[in-house]
Amino acid sequence: MTLQAAVQAVRGTHDILPDEIQHWQRLEATFRTITARFGFSEIRTPVFEHTELFARGIGETTDIVGKEMYTFQDEGETSLTLRPEATAGIVRAAIQHTLVQQNPIVRLWTTGAMFRRERPQKGRQRQFHQFNAELLGSAETEADAEIIALAAMILQNAGLTQFELHVNSLGNSASRTQYRKALTDYFRPHIDAMSEESQKRLERNPLRILDSKSAADADIVKGAPLLTDFLDDESRTRFERVQMLLTALDVPFVLNARLVRGLDYYCHTAFEFVTTRLGAQNAIGGGGRYDGLFEQLGGVSTPGIGFALGIERLLLLLAEENNDHGKQAETAAAPDVYVIGLDAESRTLALKTAHRLRLQGFVATTDAGARSMKAQMRDANRTNTRFVLIIGEAERLSGNVILKQMATGEQQECGIEDTARLAEVLSGR
Ligand code: AMP
Repeated sequence: MTLQAAVQAVRGTHDILPDEIQHWQRLEATFRTITARFGFSEIRTPVFEHTELFARGIGETTDIVGKEMYTFQDEGETSLTLRPEATAGIVRAAIQHTLVQQNPIVRLWTTGAMFRRERPQKGRQRQFHQFNAELLGSAETEADAEIIALAAMILQNAGLTQFELHVNSLGNSASRTQYRKALTDYFRPHIDAMSEESQKRLERNPLRILDSKSAADADIVKGAPLLTDFLDDESRTRFERVQMLLTALDVPFVLNARLVRGLDYYCHTAFEFVTTRLGAQNAIGGGGRYDGLFEQLGGVSTPGIGFALGIERLLLLLAEENNDHGKQAETAAAPDVYVIGLDAESRTLALKTAHRLRLQGFVATTDAGARSMKAQMRDANRTNTRFVLIIGEAERLSGNVILKQMATGEQQECGIEDTARLAEVLSGR
């Protein structure tokens, strides 16, 4: 590899530059505020885990585990993987630290980078970021309604308007067993005409054929039986109750019988937030109930439900919806004062003065160089600094400095050591 190539960000990864960061910070503030209203606590788990955790926690038959994981061999033959999603790590942490034993209902959220070796395109990256929330310990429909309402409130609060919530029920395991059989019976006569991927999935996990993106499969998949028709009474009643609760909470939703999560430990509620704006990458986020996951990972059987939102997709959508979240966001704090030192000795005093003002809580900047006064004034203007304080030989000798308010040109004299007076002027008192 050439040096030129090495100093480019890796394909599918992106820098988040200072002029974009305010959008991220605003979303993060939304996550923090809204999760707090629902009583969720933040958790941060490592970005890499044992490969086995994801193989078991996400499923060997999924694309993620099958072909998208960044896996490497660590010393001592341990296979490690950069996390492709957050739930497995959070459930691992809950088992390891007996969180649900200490507290029967645990509400957790996290945000951070996830890694999948996918083909990069708009809204699809190899390092991307998610917001996640998990509600552990309750198998009740109230938990389903709460977690979906949390996701919807976050999206609304972030300023997103053009999205739909799709919900479906995967039923209990008896319903899914019946459905799996019906699906296999339906696909079997067509399977020779279907994609290689689907042929592999027929026996192992026919539900996953419904997720197929292959054109060869599209028409056949369209005619497949619907899971909804196979729900037993218990599953149906439960799903109706979730819908009733969502309605009670004023969370609009659309029933989508095609929405599946093709893993054994997923059950009952599955949901997705979608938009039509991003073309193929129309999912902003989604989630579901995973009552079998704790056992799958060797823990005590514990019900759980959670979701993930894709932050890059959310930011793209917010920008496209043109509700210019940038303008709504607080602009980065304009510095209170730019302290200019005109000669070497004055620069020392300028540094000290700026530092003293920072200790008082003011945003004080200096040149951190030795540029001309003109260049420094330009800098102060460019950054919208409120005041400029100039120290030269005369100021050093007299001990008095001039604070100039940039917007009005108004000048006030102050003793340079008189921090209290400087603070008063900078605070506009
Ligand atoms: P998933 O964990 O696959 O259900 O994904 C949840 C959300 O994360 C998706 O709806 C996307 O918004 C986002 N997401 C998933 N994969 C990617 C990716 N490769 N690049 C960007 N966002 C992604």
